[in-house]
Amino acid sequence: MALVDPKTAPGAATFPTEASWSDASKDLLCLTTGSWRTEKPIVVVEKCTYCGQCYLFCPTQCITPGETYFPIDLTYCKGCGICAKECPTQAIVMVADGDEADGSPADQT
Ligand code: SF4
Ligand code: SF4
Repeated sequence: MALVDPKTAPGAATFPTEASWSDASKDLLCLTTGSWRTEKPIVVVEKCTYCGQCYLFCPTQCITPGETYFPIDLTYCKGCGICAKECPTQAIVMVADGDEADGSPADQT
């Protein structure tokens, strides 16, 4: 049986990040999941050790490497909380957003 490289296979997408979900067959950053989020992650920059766990585990790939920590693009964040669960220093906390906070649409910034 021939082996297929998922990055060059027909239908494969090119991703700006290298994460757990990079072999998915469509570009995840086209889905603006932030509009229906009920919680959003906040990074406590002082607690971040730049380990990259959140970047690797975010299923929407909306976490990217920054200068001293990993910023989150809330436009594509669906509020699943995986980043907060995986962070070994509890540098990411989930807070209420959108309907859960004040009944408004989720914060996109
Ligand atoms: S909550 Fe965290 S892991 Fe989930 S989509 Fe948002 S940034 Fe990614
Ligand atoms: S998992 Fe936590 S400590 Fe590691 S880079 Fe992300 S925010 Fe920083």
